[in-house]
Amino acid sequence: MISRLNLGRAHSLANAVAQHVQRAGLPVAALVPVGSVRRFAPEVGDVTLLAVAAAERHSELLDGLATLTPSVSVLRRSETSIALSTEKGPLAVHLATPDDAGAAMLWHTGSRKHTEAIRARARTRGYDFADGRLHRGGAHVETPSEDVIYSRLDLPYIPPELREDGSEVAKAERNGLPQLITVPHIRGDLHSHTSWSDGRDTSERMVQAARDLGYDYLAITDHSERAFASRTLAGADVPKQRREIEALRARMSGITVLHGVEADIMPDGSLDFPDDVLRGFDIVLASLHDDSGHDRERLTERYLGAIRHPLVNVITHPANRSPGARAGYDLDYGRLFEAAARTGTAMEVDGAPGHLDMDGALAREAMRRGVTIVVDSDCHRAENLARQMEFGVGTARRGWLEPRHVLNTKGIAEIRAFVARKRA
Ligand SMILES: [Zn+2]
Ligand SMILES: [Zn+2]
Repeated sequence: MISRLNLGRAHSLANAVAQHVQRAGLPVAALVPVGSVRRFAPEVGDVTLLAVAAAERHSELLDGLATLTPSVSVLRRSETSIALSTEKGPLAVHLATPDDAGAAMLWHTGSRKHTEAIRARARTRGYDFADGRLHRGGAHVETPSEDVIYSRLDLPYIPPELREDGSEVAKAERNGLPQLITVPHIRGDLHSHTSWSDGRDTSERMVQAARDLGYDYLAITDHSERAFASRTLAGADVPKQRREIEALRARMSGITVLHGVEADIMPDGSLDFPDDVLRGFDIVLASLHDDSGHDRERLTERYLGAIRHPLVNVITHPANRSPGARAGYDLDYGRLFEAAARTGTAMEVDGAPGHLDMDGALAREAMRRGVTIVVDSDCHRAENLARQMEFGVGTARRGWLEPRHVLNTKGIAEIRAFVARKRA
């Protein structure tokens, strides 16, 4: 059995069950993912949903969940929850009444440390917060929304992505929470792949999808010739790709298409295209997909070489980790962040579920050290453009990022100026 899913798989599982519930017409007022999925944790051990329904409908709802599809089987069942085994993995659904929806959401969203901190705070104010319900002096207190329970405890609403080690509760009390970035702040995507390398869709299809999302710009950044990817862009094909993008620009209005590249950092620290080729791109991302067996020191040096390179604008997914599958590189992030901030090189929060890298903690550290951050989809198929940006923004929110920290919340002129400054 799979024990930990990456966020993408967990999300798909939660969505699939929600769709089945809707199709089956089960009596729910709301059905929402809670737990790690709601907090955008990169790895999810417990895919959990909260179903809000009137108490008298609970047993009917549990019966419906137990027989949701022919392949679903029941692992456990109580009066207020059911654990199911599905073909995409195990999942639990907790039930709450509308009167308890807020307390139950908070309880089941976690993290455990956050819930403990809230519980302790409740106690100091004469409340008892337990098992997804709030009481005072033995009497039930209605919490139809999370806002209600936070405000009962003299706190502002704390976004799920910040509910981590409990210290956010003290920050909230002092009005110290950030004005977090949201998806609508994103003006464009600076990292995407097409069928010129290992992407599935044409440039045209990707640009259409980006335009449909209301983006002002999309950078097409295929893999360089010797990149550690299943398909790559040969140096000889770069002019052909450029002509295709120029034709696309002439045909499609309302969005700026940047011709970029995701160049690999080679084992010797050089980049996988010569400078005269790199200079022809509108934006250059550099990444390390293959550690060549190097240790922390050499990997850090390889990155530092790329960061100092005047034609490199963004370091993508620096840890090159894969949540649930592969740990990231051991790197001296302090040196990388210092060099990135000093040279005007951005570092990326990559929203592909196979990366989610930098993670929240690293992104927060980078932000504190003054590094410019970009949040990208690293999308390989048009249909995932929005979803992967959502994961990227969720990850950035876990890093306490505000719009002002993120380059691609700004317009195209500022993107071009960012590239030009380093080249000068
Ligand atoms: Zn990559
Ligand atoms: Zn990529």
